[in-house]
Amino acid sequence: MSWITVLWSMNAAACLTLAAIYLLVWSKHREDWVPLLFSFTAISVAVIAGFELATMRSETTEQFGTLMRWAHVPIWVLLVSLVWFVRFYLRAGRTWLAWSVCGVRSLALFLNFLFSPNLNYRQITSLQQVSWWGGEKVSVAIGVPNPWTLIAHLGLLLLLIFLIDATVSAWRRGDRRRALIVGGGAIFFVTMGSAQALLVIWGVIRAPFFISFPYLGIVVAMAYELSSEVLRAAQIAGQLRSSESALRESEARFRTIADSAPVLIWMSGTDKLCTFFNKGWLDFTGRALEQELGNGWAEGVHHDDLDRCLKVYANSFDAREPFTMEYCLRRSDGEYRWVLDIGTPRFAPDGAFLGYIGSCIDITERKLAELDAQRHRTELAHLSRVALMGEMSASIAHELNQPLTGIVSNAGAGQRFIDRGDVDLQELRALLVDISADGRRAGEVVRGIRRMVKKEETRRQSVDLNDVVMNVAHMIGPDALLHSCKVTTSLKPNLPPVEADPIQIQQVLINLVVNGFDAMRDTPVQNRKILMATERNGDGVIEVSIRDYGVGIPDEARDRLFDRFFTTKREGLGMGLAIVRSIVEAHHGTIAAENAAGGGARFHFTLPASVTH
Ligand code: ADP
Repeated sequence: MSWITVLWSMNAAACLTLAAIYLLVWSKHREDWVPLLFSFTAISVAVIAGFELATMRSETTEQFGTLMRWAHVPIWVLLVSLVWFVRFYLRAGRTWLAWSVCGVRSLALFLNFLFSPNLNYRQITSLQQVSWWGGEKVSVAIGVPNPWTLIAHLGLLLLLIFLIDATVSAWRRGDRRRALIVGGGAIFFVTMGSAQALLVIWGVIRAPFFISFPYLGIVVAMAYELSSEVLRAAQIAGQLRSSESALRESEARFRTIADSAPVLIWMSGTDKLCTFFNKGWLDFTGRALEQELGNGWAEGVHHDDLDRCLKVYANSFDAREPFTMEYCLRRSDGEYRWVLDIGTPRFAPDGAFLGYIGSCIDITERKLAELDAQRHRTELAHLSRVALMGEMSASIAHELNQPLTGIVSNAGAGQRFIDRGDVDLQELRALLVDISADGRRAGEVVRGIRRMVKKEETRRQSVDLNDVVMNVAHMIGPDALLHSCKVTTSLKPNLPPVEADPIQIQQVLINLVVNGFDAMRDTPVQNRKILMATERNGDGVIEVSIRDYGVGIPDEARDRLFDRFFTTKREGLGMGLAIVRSIVEAHHGTIAAENAAGGGARFHFTLPASVTH
């Protein structure tokens, strides 16, 4: 067999094989046009190779002309599919240029069938037998070129412009490899093929057409790039499979851990609805997973807590923030138990929000102990208030004595007016006004005592510490007088409020001041002073201090001051400072004491300011 037949057949066979492979690829992913366009390109190159072989073997000018005319069909398919392959594969190139190439080449195809013998020749005058390597003879046409063939050349020129444009944009975008292999390859081989065809048509060289070989180059470049793409896709698919199995394994591991953990675990998705409850949860509530999923879990939450619970969850969810909440959850035996629920948002490695994961523990025992401690604290506070009032009874008597004496003397004066018979109504009226003012004052004192002694639940409210200090300074006034002691205040203006029970804070201050009085029993009268001060201590903390000029804190007492039943006084109970500390700590504050320079002790405690400030 002649080497020409072998070579051209091999060319066609290679193209058809590649076309078949990518047709198969396309049949599996029909939404991707690239393999289909490649197959069209490869098939058309194979058909062109067939036409080239046939023209080389043609014996008459008519046969040659007809073959050339029909060869324009696969050339049209080749160019159109190449244009769109490049457009889709490189995702570059101007669309209007692509359409222009298709339009001009379609016009050329149309004209080709209008002219005889074809678009390229107005007339083929004779066939020349050219001798090739190895003595092989091939037919070459000698004729008059058709000027309309320039339309076809224009199509090729537009094709080159389109290819250059697409390659440059892909290169600039950073897709350099594709641009170089597919774009650069296409530009190079299209130039070669077109040049050879042009030279033959215009009679510059006497040789047969072999544009199928440059176009084979393009097909090989395209196939090379596509195959690396297919390989990469296979690699990614492999990685995906292994990461999927790793994911399955880690999920199974998570479930094993979650089910054996001694806590209640739940998970929710991006729609707030719960998607998972561990065995611990289901054992606790005694319900089936299907009952708990979605919002089913809410049925087990005590109705007093449910609204608050849902609000905390929804607010944290919207802000993608972690949360902690306590609520009562019904156990399988029907008993409500306190649980502490800690929820944390879940995020994918790429930062996408996935929902929440939460864990709950039963804190009923702790909660009961807390309530117990609270009860004890209230009890103790009550007792201490009663004891304080005992201590302050002298000052109370003094306080009450004043208005009562006033009432008695004013009433006496009134009686005398009446007895004398010259009742000045104006004066009598003034006496009665004084009497009722004294009566009101006495009533105030009694009400103050009642408030102090009453066993009240703690009630937190927004409190201005300066007000409380002023109040105590006022209340303690008569007692201070009795102890010949001067009470002064130094208040920082515009303090932020604190969240506190004002009666308890009052109690803290009274305890500290009364201790100050006790400590100054042996202090010379002119030195008996107590200074109550408030100031800011850093951000969001307020400090209140009580400084006296007494004996100071004895060394042996320093570490035990706040211990229950610690006292250095003969009739002391040793409860005052213990209660003071428990109240301050219940308000999330701290208390300390030290001896002050210049004699005496200084007790100071801090309280956090309300968060809004
Ligand atoms: P009590 O007053 O019944 O002794 P407290 O708990 O109030 O109980 O005080 C405990 C002890 O702390 C007192 O006995 C005293 O030794 C010491 N202490 C308290 N306040 C002062 C103070 N302002 N100056 C010196 N020592 C004090």
